[in-house]
Amino acid sequence: MAKSLKDDVLVRIWVQFEKLYPTEEDCIEELYNISKSERRLQCKKCGMRSYQRTYGERVLTCVVCRRQVSFTTGTLFERVRRTRPWLAAIWLMDHGLLVSSSRFHQLVGIAQSTALIIFRKIAAVIAVHMNVDESLPSGLFSVLFSKRSRETPANAHPRSEQDIIEQQCAESLSVRQEGADVRSVQQGLRDSQDTGTLKASLMATVEASPGKLMIDSDFGGLQPVELRVLSYLSASPLHVDSLLEMSQMPVGELSAALTMLELAEAAVRRPGDWYVLRRRALVGTGDGSSKGESYPSKEVRRGVEAFIETVRDNFHGISRKYLQSYLATYWCQVDRVRWGGGRLLNACWQALPVSSAQIVAYVTPLLVKLVFAG
Ligand SMILES: [Zn+2]
Repeated sequence: MAKSLKDDVLVRIWVQFEKLYPTEEDCIEELYNISKSERRLQCKKCGMRSYQRTYGERVLTCVVCRRQVSFTTGTLFERVRRTRPWLAAIWLMDHGLLVSSSRFHQLVGIAQSTALIIFRKIAAVIAVHMNVDESLPSGLFSVLFSKRSRETPANAHPRSEQDIIEQQCAESLSVRQEGADVRSVQQGLRDSQDTGTLKASLMATVEASPGKLMIDSDFGGLQPVELRVLSYLSASPLHVDSLLEMSQMPVGELSAALTMLELAEAAVRRPGDWYVLRRRALVGTGDGSSKGESYPSKEVRRGVEAFIETVRDNFHGISRKYLQSYLATYWCQVDRVRWGGGRLLNACWQALPVSSAQIVAYVTPLLVKLVFAG
């Protein structure tokens, strides 16, 4: 899209936002309406469910015992001083727009650093939902790594972050001993030390056995309900309570599904009822090899190219550190069915709080998730 045309669209969507949500109070009200439709707050002191509240305020007062509670506690918005910039960012993304933090800070009147944090937290929410597709080596995107981050070594090009993480991964893999497939990857890693990077080695491994780097998306034999639970899981641990909320399933049905996923080695249970998606990426069965397709497939290649082009158009370059964040944002932009029509705001409302420290500490892993439209 030409720059001026894109800006026209942005201005039009922005004007709509300003009309609907002219003040902070209107934004709080929007969040309150979402929270109301979801569950009725119960007073922790007396158990009543009746509250008094003033328009645009987060604090609710129990009509019986006068205990006060903020309805945004425990949500992504709990420590947010002004929710309007958040709703603005979500609104623009909901309409399929990619906005740079510099443009957004002019538009909304907040610091650019605050704008970046907002976009990255929203991307983190989206990324939680990206887990049934394919994993790709982050090195495929290295042409984009032109911005420095705190991971970039002094006097080195931002792209050197990729070399560093590949090296770290090679070191950690070479000390692990798990099954034949991992050993073959290890062999590949050892070989790669003479010839170059881990990327080359990973690519060589997958070329020898296409499909190995793909997370099995069918997990043969799983029931639809189990696949649904699986779709909530990712590499970061998710508590069973969150799964209950997200899936709205009865406890018994959810725990049965989780047990099946454990037996199928698709999920791993951690102490305290935390669940993670089992990374089959490096220990896959290699069944994909029988299909005789090249890796990455044409579709994946096209997706990667389209992403690279979009990032160049909108952000020029990015840091490697936040690649996964841009991949999540991109998914939101291209998959209008999945993320339009208020779905992004709902996902943000249901997400657990993400601290700025978590965002600052985040580093895109060696394998990234990329989901294509629909
Ligand atoms: Zn009460």
